Amino acid sequence: EAPVPSDLEIAKKQIPKDIQQLAREIHLHNNELELYGTKKAKIKLNVLERLRNAPNGKYVVVSGITPTPLGEGKSTTAIGLCQALGAHLKKNVIGCLRQPSQGPTFGIKGGAAGGGYSQVIPMEEFNLHLTGDIHAITAANNLLAAQIDARMFHENTQNDQQLFNRLVPTIDSKRKFSPIQQKRLNKLKINKTDPMTLTTDEITAFVRLNIDPSTITWQRVVDTNDRFLRKITIGQAATEKNFTRETNFDITVASEIMAVLALTSSLGDLRERLGKMVVASSRDGVPITADDLGVGGALAVLMRDAIKPTLMQTLEGTPILVHAGPFANIAHGNSSILADQIGLKLVGADGYIVTEAGFGFDIGCEKFMDIKCRYSGLIPNCVVLVATMRALKVHGGGPKVEAGTPLPPEYTQENLPLLERGTQNLVKQIQNAQYFGVNVVVAINRFKTDTQAEIDLVKRIAIENGATDAVMADHWAKGGSGATDLARAVEKACLQKPDFKFLYDLQLPIEEKIRIIAQKIYGADDIKLSEMAEKRIQLFTQQGFNDLPICMAKTHLSLSHDPSLKGCPKNFILPIRDIRASIGAGFLYPLVGEMSTIPGLPTRPCFYDIDIDPITEEIYGLF
Ligand code: ADP
Repeated sequence: EAPVPSDLEIAKKQIPKDIQQLAREIHLHNNELELYGTKKAKIKLNVLERLRNAPNGKYVVVSGITPTPLGEGKSTTAIGLCQALGAHLKKNVIGCLRQPSQGPTFGIKGGAAGGGYSQVIPMEEFNLHLTGDIHAITAANNLLAAQIDARMFHENTQNDQQLFNRLVPTIDSKRKFSPIQQKRLNKLKINKTDPMTLTTDEITAFVRLNIDPSTITWQRVVDTNDRFLRKITIGQAATEKNFTRETNFDITVASEIMAVLALTSSLGDLRERLGKMVVASSRDGVPITADDLGVGGALAVLMRDAIKPTLMQTLEGTPILVHAGPFANIAHGNSSILADQIGLKLVGADGYIVTEAGFGFDIGCEKFMDIKCRYSGLIPNCVVLVATMRALKVHGGGPKVEAGTPLPPEYTQENLPLLERGTQNLVKQIQNAQYFGVNVVVAINRFKTDTQAEIDLVKRIAIENGATDAVMADHWAKGGSGATDLARAVEKACLQKPDFKFLYDLQLPIEEKIRIIAQKIYGADDIKLSEMAEKRIQLFTQQGFNDLPICMAKTHLSLSHDPSLKGCPKNFILPIRDIRASIGAGFLYPLVGEMSTIPGLPTRPCFYDIDIDPITEEIYGLF
């Protein structure tokens, strides 16, 4: 076999077609496009209006076994499957992918545009700023963060009348509430529109949010693996008059605004969700929202372009929609509902949408089903579970693997007993998919060292344990032509109507919903709530937030909470350290054990290999 060149070399060789040409091929109208140069364009949401009555295509979600630090090729497989369906089987197909964060791109993992002959191009644009959506989220998130501290400062340093005069200034010799202030008055049940008629008590209620600083859950964000921002003290300049506070940064993709973007269904819905994000409680236990802080409208304005998915293409010229990119371990891990909805209409009844849920099935795909599908009302026709020999061998008890270091021989030579032990993880993830009543196709993402006996073993075990099909896919080395068997297996699996069901009812108590996920999906004996978690459950129940889906923040490297436990761990109790609420996005997220919400840089980050040729402007070393 000829060696496969580097991802960037392959990507550079293929000249992308003009994005307007691609848009015509998928029957988009000119007034539905916003061009960003010649290789990418945003799609306006008015297309949904035009296609309101069009039938939906088939909905395929790509997930995987529990990953190793190396990444198992889910994105690569999703893209290869699109190339196979579109360029080889001549079906209408659109891939819906997440936009990568610059954390992994410059940190440990590298980019997320696929790899080998299955990639999104131009990969350097995909992996870097693209159309700026992540920057918009950073801007919006931090505007809200700045307003929380500024508002507390102003409330602490001014009396009620001073605050009122500044919050409701006299313009053209008349005072008037802004619409957002009118909203706050409604919340306070003050039925007045003329500011001059407020009583002193009403003025106090109106101007004092009385934020309890110890309850603030809103953090600042940055899209960089900057570990020294994990804990900081703000307000240390003399101008802040000793109102210092300990807080921290999260990575941008962990912002609730990213989750809101991924789960929203329209600009109106986006505005509403941004406004009702809860950032803290008042000293009386009342939830404080972005709209209480007056900033909901400005956040929506900052996000008005980000709400539109970005059209790109694969190496074989098939369309890809890139939109939103929450991490799967600390957020819900799925690309946007809007991109999927637009895609499903554009491909028509005989077409396919291939989307990807981050990390293993227990992480991204459980959330795909229980959170994303619940909000979108869409039902997947088929789950593709990606497995690789080397990851299965890690689960069988093989030696530790690390990104950037050579693989021990267990992973590059045939070892059937090790592999067979590792298939228990695959078997558990197949079972997990079956809880939702959806057909499962196992895709063995081929590495060049895999042997036929190994492939046969995994196929047999997958089928014996309920997969509708298990096929070897060689799209990394061969492009779409290497994944036509996978594409046919997916077509077949989509013929049967899924018997779809959610894992839990929203009305169950919060604790019970967490227990169901822990016991059924992770295989835990039970959960153990910390005192803090119990207090939160009480608070959220009392604040009326019980009936939300659950977004577990758990390590992706094990079915359990302990990243060192591989395979299919048993006899463990899942510790719930804390529970947070994303009210705008619409879920509660329990923190399982210690989860860092901003990664750090390793000793040798990916950027050591990245550079630019100043003459040709070519970029080197991205992968
Ligand atoms: P995931 O989506 O599971 O995190 P990716 O699709 O991003 O994984 O792939 C991770 C890395 O592995 C990429 O650099 C990709 O090029 C490489 N890769 C994927 N599949 C193969 C394969 N079959 N052979 C060799 N390298 C592969």
